[in-house]
Amino acid sequence: MRAAVVGADAADALAVGGLQPFTTIDYPGALAAVVFVQGCAWRCPYCHNPHLQAAAGDGVDAPMPWAALRPWLERRARVLDALVFSGGEPTLDPALPAAMREARALGYRIGLHTAGMSPRRLQAVLPLVDWVGLDVKAPLDDAALHDRLSGVRGAAAAVSASLDALLACGVDHECRTTVHASLLSDAALERTVALLASRGVARHALQACRASGDDRRPSVTWPDAARLAVLTARHPALVLRSAA
Ligand code: SF4
Repeated sequence: MRAAVVGADAADALAVGGLQPFTTIDYPGALAAVVFVQGCAWRCPYCHNPHLQAAAGDGVDAPMPWAALRPWLERRARVLDALVFSGGEPTLDPALPAAMREARALGYRIGLHTAGMSPRRLQAVLPLVDWVGLDVKAPLDDAALHDRLSGVRGAAAAVSASLDALLACGVDHECRTTVHASLLSDAALERTVALLASRGVARHALQACRASGDDRRPSVTWPDAARLAVLTARHPALVLRSAA
């Protein structure tokens, strides 16, 4: 992991791995762009951005310096509502707070997509964020399943602590669960939904595991109508998101 950076150009150290210049689905109710930050400590089997897993410097060049994005961000601030930091896992990048501050100063609302793997780093940026999408991959009381779905040990405890921090700070948010029948059973999905409802999560989105050309990844699946009825009974504010 890279050392923390300080000073006026701290944001320039952000390891930008990609840019989605326009989206209506990555920040609810806002016209947004997405900055994808390079690097993730987890190895989820259904990861849709495996090219963003390796940390910058581990044989990966950040292809898009933040400094090169700056003029584009300044121009687009007139037409976009929000800038979303996604990944990879953006909270692992020490330059994230500086980049968020800079984007806020340009007038963007700040969105954050995180898997919650570092509660401490999430807590540090929550005062800079207007909306958070927190991945919750499995029931938070099932440590073994979390370990399998994240490829690391201790994932459930980290996500649970991140959820606590998110709920305590009052920042607008949603939790998101990727649905794949061969990785998350009906019972586990139902328990995930019920546990998040009981913790007070206002909005929970179920996302179909997206298709890709990579044969290593599982195929797309989606809960059927009967299953959806059961899940919605568990959490009335359930949101369904179809495959991209
Ligand atoms: S946490 Fe997200 S970016 Fe990291 S491996 Fe899992 S799905 Fe991919």
